[in-house]
Amino acid sequence: MSSTATAESAGSPPKAPAPAVALPSTIPCGGDSRRILVLYVGGTIGMMKNAEGALECVAGYLTQQMHEMRELRESAEIAPFDIIEYAELLDSSDMNAADYCRIAADVAGHYDEYDGFLVAHGTDTMHYTASALSFMLHNLDKPVIVTGAMVPLAEPYNDARRNVIISMMIASDPKVCEVCVFFNDSLFRGNRCSKVYHTYGAFTSANYPPLGTMEATHFVLKEEYLLPQPNGSMKVMSDLRGRVGCYPLDPDADVDTIVALLEHKRPPTTADGEDGAQAPLLDAILLTLNGVGSATGTVAAQLRRIVKTAQKHSIVVCAVTREISGTLNALEVQRLRAISPYIVYLNDMCISAAEVKLMYLFGKNLPPSQVAALMPMNLRGEITPLLVGAAKL
Ligand code: ASP
Repeated sequence: MSSTATAESAGSPPKAPAPAVALPSTIPCGGDSRRILVLYVGGTIGMMKNAEGALECVAGYLTQQMHEMRELRESAEIAPFDIIEYAELLDSSDMNAADYCRIAADVAGHYDEYDGFLVAHGTDTMHYTASALSFMLHNLDKPVIVTGAMVPLAEPYNDARRNVIISMMIASDPKVCEVCVFFNDSLFRGNRCSKVYHTYGAFTSANYPPLGTMEATHFVLKEEYLLPQPNGSMKVMSDLRGRVGCYPLDPDADVDTIVALLEHKRPPTTADGEDGAQAPLLDAILLTLNGVGSATGTVAAQLRRIVKTAQKHSIVVCAVTREISGTLNALEVQRLRAISPYIVYLNDMCISAAEVKLMYLFGKNLPPSQVAALMPMNLRGEITPLLVGAAKL
C-alpha cells in the first residue's frame, strides 16, 4: 500500500558506522593549492562481478583505479585528492539517515583541510543522500558533488569513468558552493533531482534547470542557477530525526490503515515520564497526490479523515504531487486549502527532499507547528515557495 521512510528517534540511536579507512593520495597533480576529498561510500560504481556474475562492492578497487587514472592525475582542472574509502561499502538501497549523518560528519570533520568534496555513492538513493547533505551542511561554501554509475568502472563500457572525471572537475571549482548530483553529463542541485530511469540518464531535475551540462567539448556551468555564496561559517547539523510516513493517496487508498498508523503510539521509553505518556509513532505524514478532485469528492473526504486524526496528535501533514514534473495549478491549491488549511502543500519539491527536510527540521527539535511553517519555505533551493517569506536554518 505504501512506503514508510523513518529515521531513528532520539530513543533508539542509529546503527554505529564502521570506521573509515583513510588512503592518502600519492598523486602529484594540480596547479594550485586546492585539494579534494573523495568519500567512497559504495554503489555500483566500484562493484565487480563475482563468480556467479552478480555485482558486488570490492574493497579498494575504485580507490586504486582513481589513483591510477591518468585523467585525474594530469588534468589542470582537477585538484589533487585524497580518498576515504568506507570500511563497509554500501549498496545505497541499504542506507538510511544514520548513513547521511555519517557522510555529513565526514565532510564537516575535514571541511577546513579541503576545498571540495566528491561522494562516490550508489544510485538508488543518491538523491536522498544529496538532499540530506544539502540540509545538514548549513552555509556550505564549497562544492560537494555526489556521483555514481549505472555500469561499474570495472566493465569495459561504463559511465563510471566519465562521471568520476567530470565530477572531480566540478568538485575543483570554487564557484560551486552547494550539494549537487552529477550524472550523465548533467549537474543537478542535489535536493532537486530524482532517479527516474535505470539507464545512463538515470537522474532528472524536472522542476529546476540543470546547474551545468557537458557540451561537445567542455563543461558549462550555469552560474545564474547556482546558490549564492553564503554569509557565515559552515555548520553541520547531523541529527536527522522524525518518523515520516510517505503514502500515495491513490483512488483506492486504504485510509483506514493510514488513520490506524496515525493513531499508533511509540513504544514507551523512560523519556515518557511517570504518567507513561506516549508520543505518536509518526511525527509527520507526507501524502503524494494524483490530484485534489472536487471539493466534495473522494480525495477531499480521504484528506479530511487523515487531517482530523493527525491534528489530534499534532502530526504534521504535508502533500506533494505524484508527478515528477510540475505541480498543482493555483485553483487546485486553493481547493486543497479549502479542504483543510492544516495540509502543508509543498509545491514543486521532490518527494525525497521533502522526506529528509522533515527529518532535518524535527532533528532541530522544532515543535510540529514550526516544522509545518518551515516546510513550504525555501531553505536550500529545494522548493519554489508559494508563500512569501524567507527562512534561515
Ligand atoms: N544498488 C546500487 C546502489 O544504489 C545501484 C547503483 O549504484 O547504481 O548502491
